Amino acid sequence: MTPDERRTALDAIADEIRDCTRCRLHEGRTRSVPGEGSAETEVVLVGEGPGSNEDRQGRPFVGAAGSFLTELLGSVGWRRDDVFITNIVKCRPPGNRDPEPDEVAACIPYLRRQLDAIDPALVVTLGRHSLGSFLPGARIGQVHGTTRPGSTELGPEAGLVFAMYHPAAALHQGSLRQTLLDDALAIPGALLQARERREHIAADGQATPMAGAGPRPPIVEPEPGTDQLTLFR
Ligand code: URA
Repeated sequence: MTPDERRTALDAIADEIRDCTRCRLHEGRTRSVPGEGSAETEVVLVGEGPGSNEDRQGRPFVGAAGSFLTELLGSVGWRRDDVFITNIVKCRPPGNRDPEPDEVAACIPYLRRQLDAIDPALVVTLGRHSLGSFLPGARIGQVHGTTRPGSTELGPEAGLVFAMYHPAAALHQGSLRQTLLDDALAIPGALLQARERREHIAADGQATPMAGAGPRPPIVEPEPGTDQLTLFR
């Protein structure tokens, strides 16, 4: 797809999400939250579902968890509009309860189409619900801060999934704040791994060897004054 085609596709999906009545979550929403960010990025971040601030504004991660997410991205020199940020479900579950399986099933085709349009090398899952949609059965406590090929139809195609705790977890459990900060520093390294994997697969149809439960990727400290890893094709 050309850049214009990607943007047009994302805008069309967002329009559908705004009017969506596929599941009961539409009944209580103020606004649905399609997601936002670059159509040209190589990195998509996927949270769980909108909270009350997001429901009011129609934008993802704009509350306290969102501020921390912005800080995490900033720690590797990235801005929110360098990536695309969205959620598994696009409408707020009442009382911030977990989304029900039928609500996830109704909404996931939108995420699938967003990922098809963007075709990212790397998907960063935020929290266990997002993780479960890309790597069913994986446990966040074991896989956070590591990359794996996605094991569901959500992909990403020939790319990798990088698992993180949900930023809100650090607001409830202070000890996870440093874990999230440490894991965020590994995202650029995960992107390099994902690019390399794609290139190998494109070249000879073979993935680079990746242990299913391999070592944690190196933590990449951004060096002051060096160019940041660019995120665009
Ligand atoms: N939590 C999420 O999972 N997504 C948001 O958009 C906001 C909070």
